Amino acid sequence: MTESIFMDNAATTRTDPEVIAAMQPYGNEKFGSPATLYALGSEAKSAIDGARQNLADLIGADPREIFFTSGATESNNWAIKGVADALESRGKHIITNEAEHHSILMPCRYLEKKGWEVTYLQVDGDGLVDPEAVIKAMRDDTVLVTMVHGNHEIGTIQPIAEIGAAARARKVPFHVNSAQAVGHIPVDVDELSCDLLTVSGHKFHGPKGVGALYVRRGVRITPLLLGGGQERKRRAGTHNVPGIVGLGKAAELARNRLDKEPARLAELRDYIIDSIENNMEDIRLNGHRTKRLPNNVNFSFDGIEGESIMLSLSYPTSRDKKPIYVSTGSACVSGTLEPSHILLALGVPVELAHGSVRVSLSRENTREDADSFLSALYEVVERLRSMSPVYKRGSKKCASGSGSDGCDCEAAT
Ligand SMILES: *Cc1c(COP(=O)(O)O)cnc(C)c1O
Repeated sequence: MTESIFMDNAATTRTDPEVIAAMQPYGNEKFGSPATLYALGSEAKSAIDGARQNLADLIGADPREIFFTSGATESNNWAIKGVADALESRGKHIITNEAEHHSILMPCRYLEKKGWEVTYLQVDGDGLVDPEAVIKAMRDDTVLVTMVHGNHEIGTIQPIAEIGAAARARKVPFHVNSAQAVGHIPVDVDELSCDLLTVSGHKFHGPKGVGALYVRRGVRITPLLLGGGQERKRRAGTHNVPGIVGLGKAAELARNRLDKEPARLAELRDYIIDSIENNMEDIRLNGHRTKRLPNNVNFSFDGIEGESIMLSLSYPTSRDKKPIYVSTGSACVSGTLEPSHILLALGVPVELAHGSVRVSLSRENTREDADSFLSALYEVVERLRSMSPVYKRGSKKCASGSGSDGCDCEAAT
């Protein structure tokens, strides 16, 4: 396997070697179930307690408010279905936004089929939700506001603390999908005034298939999984002990880096954004310029498919170049390339939504990686555009919805 440059960290991150080392004994000699009373079991139990404390420390919670799950998908489903079920007698209205992750949108659609009403707030051209719009949308029968913290595709960071304060003022429970933010930027559940918060292990160098839901004391939520009495009777099933230990270790490692790493990544992010803006034309920066996850870059390139760029970067034409892994907003659904619902929500024209590329950095990425990526990108985009039947230099499609001026189409004409 040749060396490669991994820049698709919003999809998943490499499990940190220290995390793997911490997990290893719990798949091996310390295989006991935390539910059993003999020593082997209590070893596992105290390991889980330690992990719970580490994760609580990372987000400013009490360990008793941390409930381990199989990941962010489960946590999001549980938050939405669980609060909806517990508060059904109070009302059947939920507020979210149209640029959410599918693990939020799908449970909302499910509830709509069961007679619930869901308000999908619009986002602006940078992907931001207006806290005033949340205030206006809240009704007496609203039982949940759920908002993503950092968008997984365009990186935009929502004004979570303001939305949280507004929800708190109306006593409406507030859920935050923080899968992309926890471990990447400082997150404090009290500062955000949130009642529920979703965490995913594999998005910050922890293992896959493990995550957590923070549930503030006193918040009513029906369990999603019934059976044993694990997780204070709120999430049944024998614990994923190695996974939870790994998540705890990842939380500890992330916390130790929070003072410097976000700033280093933001600098690398801005270096990539500035370089693309200064060296390329007919491009559009997607997402907010500054209210943005420190590891996210997302551009649309007029005249070509994001998928072609992604594949070309991953299969370099010469042997001395490393494959570079990035992702595209378009997902290949049943043979057709569907443009991303998130880019469409920003008002990005369909052609440009097809041409998007997301670069997501991690603690492993260096300035050298950024330079390798940039030179490969310039070459690939130039080559693909020279073959594109639809690319017309200097067309004005790239003008962005609002705010961000990540396009020099005007100058090019
Ligand atoms: C990755 C991700 C999810 C899903 O997380 P899993 O742990 O893989 O289930 C949900 N929401 C966001 C914003 C994500 O980035």
